[in-house]
Amino acid sequence: MADMDDIEVIAFGEIDDGVLRDMAAAVGGVLGADVHPGRSLPIPTGSCEPRRGQYHAQRFLEALADRGRQGGAIMLGVTGLDLFVPRLNFVFGAADRSRRVAVISLARLDAGFYGEMPDAGVLRERAVKEAVHEIGHILGLDHCRDPACIMFFSQTIADTDAKGPGFCEICRWKMAGSA
Ligand SMILES: [Zn+2]
Ligand SMILES: [Zn+2]
Repeated sequence: MADMDDIEVIAFGEIDDGVLRDMAAAVGGVLGADVHPGRSLPIPTGSCEPRRGQYHAQRFLEALADRGRQGGAIMLGVTGLDLFVPRLNFVFGAADRSRRVAVISLARLDAGFYGEMPDAGVLRERAVKEAVHEIGHILGLDHCRDPACIMFFSQTIADTDAKGPGFCEICRWKMAGSA
């Protein structure tokens, strides 16, 4: 991938170290980028929406942007809390292309959320996909119509499970063209 910057992975609150480490390694493999852990951040104040029992994704993006980055690194936040943006019931993740920050939520990636047996491998696989998807937005990609492409918009976890962690040919071509 041309002109790929480093990616700093930042936990919001407590995130299992093994999940973070495995995810960072796998994301680095898919993107061909150097992915390394950064200092964790607290849950952003004022991010909780008590009526929804959810957290405002935008506040997490702002906290990452406020933190500032080292060099040109992309900052990827990870939280176990359930995120939303206005007009959507929930989001698996969100990105701010201009500020080069993204956040993903593990809350709905855990099989336990759907009443199934928790499975660390499944959680990691889904987290990698959501991370690559959001970083794809930072790298200039919009949503893709190919359900097998990582840039396909996941409305449900089944959409996430159906797509691969990589980019389709058209998205690859777009990335190469914008670099
Ligand atoms: Zn998206
Ligand atoms: Zn695509």
